[in-house]
Amino acid sequence: MSLVTLTELMKDAEEKRYAVGAYNVMNLDMIRGILAAAEDEKSPVILSFAEVHIPYIPLEYIAPIMLEAARNAKVPVAVHLDHGQDFEVIIRAMKYGFSSVMFDGAHLPLEENIKKTLEITKIAKALGVSVEAELGTILRPEGGGDDDYVEEEYDEDDMYTNPEHARIFMENTEIDALAVAFGTAHGVYTREPVLDFNRLQEIKTITNMPLVMHGGSGLDDKSYVKSIESGIRKLNYYSTMAYEVANEVLTKLSFNAKRNKKSYYHDISMWAIEAIRKDISRTMRIFGSAGKA
Ligand SMILES: [Zn+2]
Repeated sequence: MSLVTLTELMKDAEEKRYAVGAYNVMNLDMIRGILAAAEDEKSPVILSFAEVHIPYIPLEYIAPIMLEAARNAKVPVAVHLDHGQDFEVIIRAMKYGFSSVMFDGAHLPLEENIKKTLEITKIAKALGVSVEAELGTILRPEGGGDDDYVEEEYDEDDMYTNPEHARIFMENTEIDALAVAFGTAHGVYTREPVLDFNRLQEIKTITNMPLVMHGGSGLDDKSYVKSIESGIRKLNYYSTMAYEVANEVLTKLSFNAKRNKKSYYHDISMWAIEAIRKDISRTMRIFGSAGKA
């Protein structure tokens, strides 16, 4: 019985100054690999499902699996909806028992973002569900892999969270975590990211909130550590895991093929779980969440 809210996880992370990884899943193999890593590392963890991944698996199929796995885990697990934009999807996630939801209104004008965030928090609070909101545009769509994405259409102001906006946002909403843009991007980086730690620290001081990094794949270890020192408490990590696992499966398939050895679908499943477990364990040690459960 270890399903917890994001708020509970963030409280401990804030006190002990570490970040909890939030890992998007879309099947049981991913859930098993991530939870095996969390139990190995004695780490709290956020099992996350992104609205944008609904075409891969319907929410009503994945939700009960995530929740059952969380309840049976030996470590605290929050079950979270990532980048909820559709009101109906967010409400359904709460209905299925998610302990946390993100409302992503970052693309909206500030006032509209505040208004919509308030609508969600009002319902979430009544149900004991945590809410993450977003301010500032984190580049590229969630899920990664969109290599044709053009970044030139954004200007600097859109890319980074405005600290003054963060103050106004905090004064007018009741959220539990805030996703901020300080130079990270979703997906795999096509050029070296420029992270604005001063801005991050300023937002932390103004909001006194657990801050969330999106686009946490592909940064060097030092950037993770510095981000956590500057106030990041939830770290979304997906693309590297998804890529590494596919690569590992491909390597194993080719290895067998070269030796005229048959591969079976259940082999792929076990290779994937093991590759995920290894990669996620590594991130938990970097994020400082290892040993905190
Ligand atoms: Zn994101």
